[in-house]
Parts: sequence; C-alpha cells; structure tokens
Amino acid sequence: MGKITGFMEFDRENPPERDPLSRAADFNEYVLPVPDELLCRQSARCMDCGVPFCHAGFITDGNSIGCPLRNLIPEVNDLVYRGNVKAAYARLRVTNPFPEFTGRVCPALCEGSCTLGEHGDPVTVKLIEKFAADEAAKEGFYKSERAPRIGKKAAVIGAGPSGLAAAEYLNRFGADVTVFEKADRPGGLLMYGIPNMKLDKKIVMSRAAELKKEGVEFVFGAEVGVNYPLIDIVRGFDAVVVCIGAGRERRINADGADNDGVVTAMTYLTASTRAVLAKKPSEISAKGKRVIVVGGGDTGTDCVATAVRQGAAGVVQLEIMPPPPDKRPDSTPWPLFPRLFKTDYGHKEAAAVFGADPRRFLTTVKRINGKNGRVVSADVVKVRWEGRNFVEDAKPQTLPADLIITAMGFLGPQTEIINELGLKTDPRGNIAADRFETGVPGIFAAGDARRGPSLVVWAISEGINAAKACLRLFGDK
Ligand SMILES: Cc1cc2nc3c(=O)[nH]c(=O)nc-3n(C[C@H](O)[C@H](O)[C@H](O)COP(=O)(O)OP(=O)(O)OC[C@H]3O[C@@H](n4cnc5c(N)ncnc54)[C@H](O)[C@@H]3O)c2cc1C
Ligand code: SF4
Repeated sequence: MGKITGFMEFDRENPPERDPLSRAADFNEYVLPVPDELLCRQSARCMDCGVPFCHAGFITDGNSIGCPLRNLIPEVNDLVYRGNVKAAYARLRVTNPFPEFTGRVCPALCEGSCTLGEHGDPVTVKLIEKFAADEAAKEGFYKSERAPRIGKKAAVIGAGPSGLAAAEYLNRFGADVTVFEKADRPGGLLMYGIPNMKLDKKIVMSRAAELKKEGVEFVFGAEVGVNYPLIDIVRGFDAVVVCIGAGRERRINADGADNDGVVTAMTYLTASTRAVLAKKPSEISAKGKRVIVVGGGDTGTDCVATAVRQGAAGVVQLEIMPPPPDKRPDSTPWPLFPRLFKTDYGHKEAAAVFGADPRRFLTTVKRINGKNGRVVSADVVKVRWEGRNFVEDAKPQTLPADLIITAMGFLGPQTEIINELGLKTDPRGNIAADRFETGVPGIFAAGDARRGPSLVVWAISEGINAAKACLRLFGDK
C-alpha cells in the first residue's frame, strides 16, 4: 500500500484533456499524457483496502463487479506510487496483454467497485494503467520473446481485441497461431470503430507488430466463409477460435430511411478512420452538413465527435431513453458498476463548437424526409415510457438534416461461419459456447460473437479464456 493517509490527503484528479475547442480541429488523441506528480498523488489514494472488489471480475444479476481481467490493481497502484513503473507494467501484463488499449478506452468497471467510491471518488485506476502502458512503450520495458513451440496449430478468425488476446495467449504458451482477418488491418473495432482521438491507430498497429515479432501470423483480406474457405482452416489447424464480433448493425425502422444521406454508424466511422489513416477527406463527410445522430450510446457519441471534427454545420444526438441518474441509483449499490449520466468527450466538443450540448433525450425519429432521393429533414417526436413500452407525443418536430447517422446497436455476429459449421446460437443470435466451447470439436468462440455487443475489456478476457480452453484441448491430445 502506497501512502497510508493518501486517500484523505488527495482528491481525485481526472486525466488531463486537451481544450475541447482546439482538439475538435484534429483527430489526435484528446487525453494528454499524464504528468508524473499527478500519478504519484493519484496512486497514493489507493488504500489496498482488504476488500478489493476492484479486481473481482464477475457478473451478478447482469451487473459487473470489478475488472473482468482481474488486474492486480492495488499492487499496480502501489508500484506506481513507489516509482517502480517497470514492475507495475510487468504486473499489469500478467493479466492484461493490452493495457495500452484498456488504459484508453475502458469504462473502468474497476472504478465502479473501488471502496473509496462508496463514499467519495474512486481511485483513477484507468489513468494509472494508461500511464504504466505509455511509460513501457516510451522506455521499451517490454521485450518481444518467442516461447518454445508445443507442436500445435491454432487458427483465430477475427483480429479484434478478443482475437488478438486469444492469439497472444496461445502464442505465449507455444502454439503456432495464424489470425485470419477480413479487414486490411488488425484491431477490429479498435481500428475501425473507436475513433483515432480515443485510441491512436499507431498503438493498435504497433501492438500487432509486436505479436508478429513473437511469431503470430496474420492473413488480412480473408473473410472466412466468404472469400476464404472455412474448410481449409478447419482441416489445417488443431483448433479454431471464432472471434468475429457482432457486426450486424440494427437499421432504423422509419419511412424514408432509404434516402441518400442516411448511413449506419459503422459505415460512417470506418470511412472516417480510413480517411484519417490515408490523410484524405472522408468519402462520407459531415463537412458543412446538418447532422442527426440517432442513438445516445458511446457509438453515437463517437459519431458526434467525428462529425464535429469534419466541420459539421450542426449536430443533434437523439436518445429514446431518459438521461441516466447523476448519483448511484439504488438498483446498482456499491460495488456494482453504476450507469451514471456523463458528459463525454464528444458532447463537450459539440458544446464548445456549437454552444450547446447536442443531446435530446426521450426523443426518436418518426419519419425521414427526402427530396430527389436525398435526405432533407427528419420528423422527430418526444416519447414517454410506460413500463417497457413508450408512447409518442402527438406533435412531431421537423429537424433539418443533410446527414443522418444511425447508431442503434448491433444484432449479433455474421452468420456464414455459424451456418457452415452448424454452430448453435443463443436466443439473441450469439454463438452458444459454454466455457468457450461451441460443441463442435476443436471450435471455440469468444468476444462479442459469443457474449453479444460488449466492451474491449470483456473481449480481451474472453479471448484469453478461449485460448485457455484450446490449451486444455492440446493438453488432452
Ligand atoms: C463505435 C464503437 C465504439 C466503441 N467504443 C468502445 C470503448 O470506448 N470502450 C470499450 O470498452 N468498448 C467499446 N466498444 C465495444 C468494443 O469495441 C467491442 O466490444 C470489442 O471490440 C469486441 O471485440 P471482438 O474482438 O469480440 O470483436 P470486434 O472488435 O468486432 O472484432 C471482430 C473482428 O472479426 C473480423 N471478422 C468478422 N467476420 C469475419 C470473417 N468471416 N472472417 C475474418 N474476419 C472476420 C472483423 O473484421 C473484426 O476485425 C465500441 C464499439 C463501437 C462499435
Ligand atoms: S482494464 Fe478496465 S476495468 Fe480493468 S483495471 Fe483497467 S480500467 Fe479497470
């Protein structure tokens, strides 16, 4: 434990951010590097409380408690406080192969379960994790190593966080791993979903390059079951881990949705990141357009932030649900992770550029209006919830729009591999794989494809656990 009175002496300080107005002019990361002295104060707040739910990592009644990776949080905090960042990073890597990702994009489930959070502000665990990962990259703490081989071949389908984690773990324990990925780059949603200002794509590329150095092979442009024969993979490998994500997007169900200028979030965000990487304007740009983002979740917020950067004339974000509460509700007492109202990076930027928060809660789209096949406006309507159903207000309002981006969630994994292998699915269409085993011998599943749309930290945890299941199979043979 760092400083015995640290939690009484120091208040929580959040990661320093660039000014919302100036950062909205580029796609560089919006969180600034963390100063050493801030880290020292913040890690001193961890009191190694003896009931460290922060690294409990389980789900109860659909709510999570602590870090799904079971990061050794009090130990890491203590090592950072003592200035031994190299050891802190090594400790992080015991449980988390990618702290540079989670330190940037994790919603910090651990902080929702921090004992300090019961009566005040939790320890800034995520900030400390990012600091250790960034220091490791800067100082070269991590040395790629190739483990002795065990003579088993594993294929991983999908190079998102679950696929990368499965590949890393299998390779670490000596399996020969090939990752098949339909896109042209690794990362899955880390690459083409989460925008560059939250996670610089250089970080994803560099981590994948390290895996390659350690022996993991990548085949890009291989959409297994579509342009790459699944049978070759099933016959050519001792085990296959299916990590294909839950990429089927929910479409908007409103008249006029077929007009030009109505796009899904992933179409929009992928085009934007491709353009950022190519240093060219995006094929689907919000420049000079009045934008409506339908969906108030994190994906919708990433669309708001992207549209602001592209020079939108205005952005409105619609959310059908009411705003979450400001304070921990009774339904999620400590140490459960609470869903609280937050003003995210994109909201701050939209407010700085346009003078107002872009969000409208309890509002949905009733109809999309077009002229000559192009969207010109949307009729939106206020709703009121009665139990599980909503009732629309009688009077819609027409909002002008040149671009409507729908960020309404995902329906589950693509079905080609599922159908060809005859994999069982759960009632939501996700691959049914109890203990990560699909029921078809040698075929495992992990990540969003198995648990449904979730989080990077859960995807990493799933990838590791599926790899462990594979290794058990290899051990049995
Ligand atoms: C816009 C957006 C922002 C998000 N922001 C956050 C965030 O800030 N923090 C957070 O924790 N979570 C966030 N999430 C959720 C998080 O990104 C996902 O939960 C996580 O990426 C799931 O990992 P995965 O490996 O299971 O799937 P994915 O990341 O979806 O990766 C699946 C990979 O499989 C590939 N693939 C699919 N089918 C095939 C095939 N047939 N053959 C070969 N390859 C195939 C895909 O191309 C993809 O690369 C966000 C999601 C979105 C959409
Ligand atoms: S991965 Fe997420 S939940 Fe786990 S310690 Fe890091 S920030 Fe917390």
